[in-house]
Amino acid sequence: MKQNKTVAFIYAHPDDETFGCSYLIRSISEAGGRPVLLTATRGDAGKTGHLGAMTREELAAKRDLELEKAIEILGIAAAEQLGMGDGKLKEVEPALLQERIAEFLTRHRADVVVTFPEDGLSGHRDHIVIHHAVNKVVYGGRAPSVQKLYYNQVGSYASDKSSVLRVEAGERWEAKRRALEAHQSQVFSVERVFGKLGAMVPPGHQFESFELAWERGVHYPRKEENSVFDGLI
Ligand SMILES: [Zn+2]
Repeated sequence: MKQNKTVAFIYAHPDDETFGCSYLIRSISEAGGRPVLLTATRGDAGKTGHLGAMTREELAAKRDLELEKAIEILGIAAAEQLGMGDGKLKEVEPALLQERIAEFLTRHRADVVVTFPEDGLSGHRDHIVIHHAVNKVVYGGRAPSVQKLYYNQVGSYASDKSSVLRVEAGERWEAKRRALEAHQSQVFSVERVFGKLGAMVPPGHQFESFELAWERGVHYPRKEENSVFDGLI
């Protein structure tokens, strides 16, 4: 079935989308849905991989280009960055961050939102700030088009307290691998998580998992889902 729904990914840094949810993003664009991405920072406090020393502005510009490539590979329909302080989201006025997220979700009429779980996936402080900001916006009804919220979990995450949607790599590993390679400055993080990239799906990365946290006012509804579009009205 052809979908016309919008799924918004709210993350902290360029590369979070590729690490956590390439298979899901590809599955949405394959189904005709509209994946959109909001990134709070330009990742300019990060490492530069094998690219050598760079000023923050140079790294920001490089990472903008890397993200553009990944966006094209994954089939993201629209992407925006807030340009907030990398590594310093905790210092941003929470009301401001929430307002910008609410504005993005409302303007794109997002049906579904995907963001970090409470532990930030990797424990990064910026990720945890985004998690709480998105919760405030969605649970507070400040983005009324949103019907479901998912937390991006690792690999074949399972829970007996919630419903988890799994998206399989299959042919989509190729796109994820290319998008990971596009984030050239982040090669050390990529290799730490995925090992040396090749044609085979790395062990532990056969799936991406998405925990259904909320659906139209109900927290952690228990249901079987085959797709992120299930149950949307
Ligand atoms: Zn990140």
